[in-house]
Amino acid sequence: MAVEPQFDELYRELILDHYRRPRNNGALAGANRHAEGVNPVCGDEITLDLLMDDGTVENIAFHGVGCSISQSSASMMTERVKGRPRDEALRVGAQFKEMLSGAAPGPDLGDLEAFQGVAQFPVRVKCALLCWKVLEEGLQPSSITTGGEA
Ligand code: ZN
Repeated sequence: MAVEPQFDELYRELILDHYRRPRNNGALAGANRHAEGVNPVCGDEITLDLLMDDGTVENIAFHGVGCSISQSSASMMTERVKGRPRDEALRVGAQFKEMLSGAAPGPDLGDLEAFQGVAQFPVRVKCALLCWKVLEEGLQPSSITTGGEA
């Protein structure tokens, strides 16, 4: 049984809230990008649907199974990048990854700082990063499922 990361109480509540009531959860009608990934170490799975328009994440939805860290991370990620330019989404993802490598949280993370405590648990880092890995893939042209992106 893996040791659970210890979080600041406020952050713990935020993470559990997103786990219990995931935001932007389900399939996305009209999506033009699709990507998915697994974290075999923990059994986490994340599928992302994106609607990209003119370099902006107009809409995004995820579904998946797995631990509270992987699912709440995906929920919070969708909130953070929805309506934001592709470049910003990638920048936030890079800052998130750096934070989980032990760096101080970057300036664009916002609520995603809640996951800072995960950095002390290398096995769980993969859980938190899974959705961002899938997002990065989803933002590549190879994930286009239909034409129509401006
Ligand atoms: Zn996990």
